[in-house]
Amino acid sequence: QIPVIFLSALDEVFDKVKAFKAGGVDYISKPFQLEEVLARVKTHLVICSQQKALSLKNQELLKQNALISEQATKLQMLAASDYLTGLSNRRDFLQKAYMEDRRFRRSGRPFSIIVLDIDHFKRINDNYGHNAGDKALKIIAQMMLKYVRQSDYVFRIGGEEFVLLLTSTPADQAGKMVEKLRAGIAASSFHFKGEPVQLTLSAGITETRSDDNVETIYERADKALYKAKNSGRNCQFIAD
Ligand code: GH3
Ligand code: MG
Ligand code: MG
Repeated sequence: QIPVIFLSALDEVFDKVKAFKAGGVDYISKPFQLEEVLARVKTHLVICSQQKALSLKNQELLKQNALISEQATKLQMLAASDYLTGLSNRRDFLQKAYMEDRRFRRSGRPFSIIVLDIDHFKRINDNYGHNAGDKALKIIAQMMLKYVRQSDYVFRIGGEEFVLLLTSTPADQAGKMVEKLRAGIAASSFHFKGEPVQLTLSAGITETRSDDNVETIYERADKALYKAKNSGRNCQFIAD
């Protein structure tokens, strides 16, 4: 962009101010020396090219910034997800549960935590191999996602152990949802080495209480899960 130079015989301050307000970047009164005009134009051209270089550098920095923040987001997602199933992991569960607990304290609307564990999963590995076990974990993870609402969360918190966090959901409602999920998985037939195999899971359910923290909520749901395991598996228990 070439600087605009206003040339004028009038030597009045008012005219100069008007010229600068109109976008002028320099002002030379007449009569003028050609050398001076050339020197001023040269200076402006140098400034213009420096500005252009700076703005290019700025654009480059903005692009780099966007790339870095994109990579940071990807890293954050990787740190929060389980490598096998793609579900959120235990670390993310603790974070989300902590946030939901704070929300519960403000709103008074309880959320539910469900701990689910696949029954006799060791047998799948023992009979059909670890790869078959991995495949089953992936399929079950996908099935779980189909049963929850968009506002809910599914985590794989350990080997064959999952947690559901159902936002704004009391335990009795959570129980109905888990019953459908449990029955749905029990009714599906998995195939390993061409053989149909039934997979089931047990679940412990609880809703948040006013004197809870994340550990006590989880412990209560886990105890309810063990009651379900002790009652013969393929069933669910709501904590007292
Ligand atoms: P229960 O009904 O009491 O829960 O019996 P279980 O066999 O499911 O429980 P147990 O804790 O004895 O065994 C869990 C098994 O889950 C053992 C381990 O081989 C398997 N497992 C854990 N993580 C993975 C994994 O990432 N991939 C595979 N394939 N298997 C896993
Ligand atoms: Mg287990
Ligand atoms: Mg198990």
